[in-house]
Amino acid sequence: MRWATASELLRLVHREPGITRRTAGEQLGLSSGTLAETVGRLRDASLLTETRAAAAGPGRPTTILEPHPRGPLVVVVELRARDWAVSSGDLAGHTTPVASGAIGDEPPARVLDEVATHVHDVLRASAGRVRAVVVAAAGTVSGTRLVQFTVRGWTDVELSVLAPEVTVLAGNDATLGGFAEAWTGAAREHAVALHLMVTEGLGGVLLVDGQPVRGARGRGGEFGHLPFGDPRLACPCGAHGCWGRTVDGEALARLAGHPRPTDPEGYARATLRTGERSAAVEDVAGALGAGIAGLVNAHDPDVVTIAGLAPLVRAAAPDAFARAYDRGLMLTNRDAPPPIRDSVHGDRGPARGALNLGFTHLTEPDALAEWAAEPARPAARG
Ligand SMILES: [Zn+2]
Repeated sequence: MRWATASELLRLVHREPGITRRTAGEQLGLSSGTLAETVGRLRDASLLTETRAAAAGPGRPTTILEPHPRGPLVVVVELRARDWAVSSGDLAGHTTPVASGAIGDEPPARVLDEVATHVHDVLRASAGRVRAVVVAAAGTVSGTRLVQFTVRGWTDVELSVLAPEVTVLAGNDATLGGFAEAWTGAAREHAVALHLMVTEGLGGVLLVDGQPVRGARGRGGEFGHLPFGDPRLACPCGAHGCWGRTVDGEALARLAGHPRPTDPEGYARATLRTGERSAAVEDVAGALGAGIAGLVNAHDPDVVTIAGLAPLVRAAAPDAFARAYDRGLMLTNRDAPPPIRDSVHGDRGPARGALNLGFTHLTEPDALAEWAAEPARPAARG
């Protein structure tokens, strides 16, 4: 396991961009000899570079550990309810947008074809630096299959076709958003975190020690399809009474007596931005708070993070939200309920989590050994 310490050091640089060599060595408990050897090896393998840190306080000067300009990259593909986006990112989380477009009513094969064209452009221009493509999808994901993409009516779509020549990983957008909060966001340093994201419907994930609890087939965390809602309401997922149908833009429109919006998320953002208190907004905030209380009773997290529309819903009707949360908690949880924090990464959470997942994969000791064994890479074009 020659690369085990190197793996830990790279993951630390990924979690804490801008960390100095000295702090990294202290945090990992490395002797100065081991630290020097590890950094040297990572530099030789084009995985890290060092720049001089501004002198701070007494002691010998140190350096900042930074991603190598010819180091590995991850391409992130977001498949959202209505559009897609491709970006690339490095070890320090610097991202570059590549392309984006609307999904519309195109069939999955046509959309994936177009996305693959842009992915391949990045792969070609990167001169071998792109080592993984990670898809964040607004649907149920199992392995690299998009099992159900309810908002677009897609079922069972294989995502590895996006880049057969490199590793393709995939995850649900809310799961990846939670992963990002646990790694570098509002759930950092928390042992058990619950993350919830409202877009069209609601998704989420329970994270234990930063790792998502995904279930046997990777499909866990579909909290929006718990029957906390109106049992008469059918959900596109096939079930009835789904909670997600009571907390999103469609619910706001239904409760306000408006027709179903063509873009429920846009409708919700516009409605919530006005800051107007209406019975519909109060009802939706109450449904959100009560459901979160149920999940807190079930999972006993030490923090809850919310993303997407959820922070806007809470901000628009904070009293209704807080009352429903409190009333839904069991007495044993009511004395010291877990805090509910707005996500740090916001709408960038799923892409950030995809990057985290990609670099978790690329910094496995085996993957590092493989990378280091390859011939030196030419400087990237473009
Ligand atoms: Zn459902």
